[in-house]
Order: sequence, then C-alpha cells, then structure tokens
Amino acid sequence: MTLEIDILTLFPAMLAGPLAESIPGRIQEQGLATIRVRDLRDWGLGRHRSVDDAPYGGGAGMILRPEPVAAAIDAVRRPDSTVILLDPAGEVFRHARAADLATRTHLVFLCPRYEGVDERIRSLVDLELSIGDYVLTGGELPALVVIDAVIRLLPGAIEEASTAEESFAAGLLEYPQYTRPPTFRGMDVPAILTSGDHGAVDRWRHEQALERTRRRRPDLLDRDASEPA
Ligand code: SAM
Repeated sequence: MTLEIDILTLFPAMLAGPLAESIPGRIQEQGLATIRVRDLRDWGLGRHRSVDDAPYGGGAGMILRPEPVAAAIDAVRRPDSTVILLDPAGEVFRHARAADLATRTHLVFLCPRYEGVDERIRSLVDLELSIGDYVLTGGELPALVVIDAVIRLLPGAIEEASTAEESFAAGLLEYPQYTRPPTFRGMDVPAILTSGDHGAVDRWRHEQALERTRRRRPDLLDRDASEPA
C-alpha cells in the first residue's frame, strides 16, 4: 500500500531537496509513499494571489486568511484524509503518533508562515502537531520532520529490526552502539559485545537502555502507558 502525502505550502522549494535525498527519496522510488507539494498561492485571492492579511485587533505580523487555506484543504481532502496543521500549540510530536500516522492512507500537511493561520482554520483540520517548545519561521521544517519520522516506519521502508530496537520504539532510549576499531583513543568496546554470547548481549543492551533512559530521560519511564510515547 502507498501512503499518499500532500503538503500545502507557500515555499514549495523548501520541501523538494530533503524529500528527494537518501532514504526518503528511496522510499518514494519504491512506491511506499507518494509526496505531492502544492503551492498555497494557487488558491490565493485576486490578481496578486494574496493569502495573508493584518490581524484584527492589531499586533505584529500577518495572518494567513482562511479562504485560500480552506480552498486548498477542500481541493485535496478525501474521505480517508488526515489533515494536519503544524502549530506550536499542537500536540507534541512523538514516536507513538509517528507510528499511528504510518498506518493512515492520506496525510495532508498544512504549513503556515508569518504569524500562523486564522483561528477558524483549526476547525477544518483533524490534528495539530508541534515539533517542540520553540518557534520556527514556518511549518515546512516541522512537516519535513514529521514526514521523515513517519515514512521510515512504513513496512518495507527500512529493516524492521532497526526501527523496532531504536530510541522510543519500546519507550526507552537506545543502548550504546559500537563499531570498529576495538580501541579508540583509549576507549575500549565493552568485552561482552565481542563475546559471541547473543543472550548476554541482549540482556546487556536492555540494561544499558534502561540505565541511559533513567539517567537522561526519566520522564519516559514515568509516562503513563495510555499517553502518546
Ligand atoms: N504566532 C505563532 C505562535 O506564537 O504560536 C508562531 C507562528 S510561527 C512564526 C509560523 C508558523 O511556523 C506556525 O504557524 C507553524 O506553522 C510553524 N511553526 C513554528 N514553530 C513550530 C513548532 N514548534 N512546531 C510546529 N510548527 C511550528
């Protein structure tokens, strides 16, 4: 099955490069995901294809007007769509949400700019996502972050063992990883990893993952199982 993705943006060129390279590019070549970038200005108003205006009540910056944004959403929405607004006030994006979105069939990402969208647009979207407690200049980079995290979880995108074991998949940070050489600047690879005892290696990795999570992200261990991971 192919996950179809439409991205609504005023800056299509920001999306093309990162989505064409490396694993995201290969995932599209394999037909696991189809990504279309749409220029919001195509739904702009009047001769100047205007999309924004000053906020009622005064204040800094411009706000995206609801009519062009709503028209763009209407043009791409289907019965199976999940329309996502990138917004600092949205649900904080985590692994469980990425896994959930990887099971959908059509995702639409709305990437505002300036001071964001007219409040009435929130009633037209299915989900609002934030990628963290800081403010970026637009929704394009957050959309790329979410799309990258989602499409690498599609069945067949990358080796399943690697997504199953990495950070957050089981509610823990990943265990320490090593490759050659056996000694680097006086630091040795833990002997257990070269012992050939796979059971012992598995147990060591689990303990290390727990220990690292306890030390660096105790909030992950405290999190209620019903909360998004
Ligand atoms: N005035 C908005 C506020 O205070 O919440 C910030 C607007 S920001 C300059 C422009 C756009 O960038 C936002 O509408 C949103 O689409 C995107 N954006 C910025 N930070 C984001 C974040 N942490 N997560 C998701 N989207 C973000």
